[in-house]
Amino acid sequence: MQIACLDLEGVLVPEIWINVAERTGIDALRATTRDISDYDVLMRQRLKILNEHNLKLVDIQDVIAGMGPMKGAREFLDELRHNFQVIILSDTFYDFAAPLMKQLGHPTLLCHRLHIDDDGRVVDYHLRMPDQKREAVMSLHHLHFKVIAAGDSYNDTSMLSEADCGILFRPPQNVIDEFPQFPVTTNYEELMAAFKQASIKIS
Ligand SMILES: [Mg+2]
Repeated sequence: MQIACLDLEGVLVPEIWINVAERTGIDALRATTRDISDYDVLMRQRLKILNEHNLKLVDIQDVIAGMGPMKGAREFLDELRHNFQVIILSDTFYDFAAPLMKQLGHPTLLCHRLHIDDDGRVVDYHLRMPDQKREAVMSLHHLHFKVIAAGDSYNDTSMLSEADCGILFRPPQNVIDEFPQFPVTTNYEELMAAFKQASIKIS
């Protein structure tokens, strides 16, 4: 039995924080782990900015709902789910992803959770566990599933390495250079073909 694991942001939906920055006009929210390498420092800065601008969870969810999935993502995902059981492994938060999951037909999503206070403000975040993408693939292996995984960036590479086959989708050049073992795909047709090819290879 084979399971397909997919990253979310950059594969099925746009980068959430960058789009929230664009749509709210708050430039300070553009910072990513490329700018601030300590994730906890980055997240605390983001939460502080949201509160300074009086943005509550519902406001951010409205912005995220307006983003929508990437063009063709729903069709790609539907077709992939006809061929594999699909699990989305993401480092985003359920509270943010909810509007997008609805637009993607509610696929299975494993990610993290925000702490929201009684006024609807985002006051804290909670990571379920470190390196959860890789841990999820390891757990599926324990359950005797084979795994084909696809992602777009650095935080996916441990998942791709752990999987029986890893595929990159529109990665930045530094990831291509550092991980030449993974095939690179640039559109959903290529990604689907890579999944089918990988499936034959590991069966
Ligand atoms: Mg990504």
